[in-house]
Amino acid sequence: APRKLAAGNWKMNGDLAALDQLDDMAAAAEGATCDVLICPPALLIHPMMARIGASDLLVGGQDCHHADKGAHTGDIAALQLRDAGATHVILGHSERRADHGETDAMVRAKAQAAHAAGLTAIICVGETEAERDADRTLDVIATQLAGSVPDGANARNTVLAYEPVWAIGTGRTPTLDQIAQVHALMRDHLSARLSDGADVALLYGGSVKPANAAEIFAIAHVNGALVGGASLKAADFVPIIMALD
Ligand code: 13P
Repeated sequence: APRKLAAGNWKMNGDLAALDQLDDMAAAAEGATCDVLICPPALLIHPMMARIGASDLLVGGQDCHHADKGAHTGDIAALQLRDAGATHVILGHSERRADHGETDAMVRAKAQAAHAAGLTAIICVGETEAERDADRTLDVIATQLAGSVPDGANARNTVLAYEPVWAIGTGRTPTLDQIAQVHALMRDHLSARLSDGADVALLYGGSVKPANAAEIFAIAHVNGALVGGASLKAADFVPIIMALD
């Protein structure tokens, strides 16, 4: 069975003072059967590692370059994330696809770099509102999966996150049936391609809150969440961890 994961994506939020939120999150991670991960801005990975010490809380990046090093000003290599203490890296988030023109092929190359560095890649897919309105959701997700997930993926080095673009930061979510439909498609895709595709953790992301977490976690093939806004404060993220655990 997939290992459950409560993942927080801090995006471009947080500073040294925000690390105060980690004490209660680390305490929740301690007793939990699910994995608990925070992906802060890369600048905060080192101080976060120092702050949480030997805690079970996991730390990840929000992006990496596809090359292992070199002349790429402003970029961060997967090996550098690993060196800083990260275990995971979010790849192909819709904000990176939109703001930085990341294509499926680029996301796949980044995932290969993450795997080579020993990181678990959290590969994100999701349709825009226009694509959903045009009934293209399942086609869009299938294309993104085929293009973004490398052949070397397995249940240890890869997690998939379904994040409908229109549900991110909006307070709107798909119906439980709509989430179930996409997660079933993701499971079928992985099972067809990978020998351990049944064990790859599948996350839902987009306006996950303490109030809707339990019903989302009850959906078949939902093995956790990728949480944005509600991962910034322990008062919001800890109840989400508890709902998953
Ligand atoms: P919100 O939880 O703020 O909607 O963000 C979701 C997201 O994009 C996580 O990666």
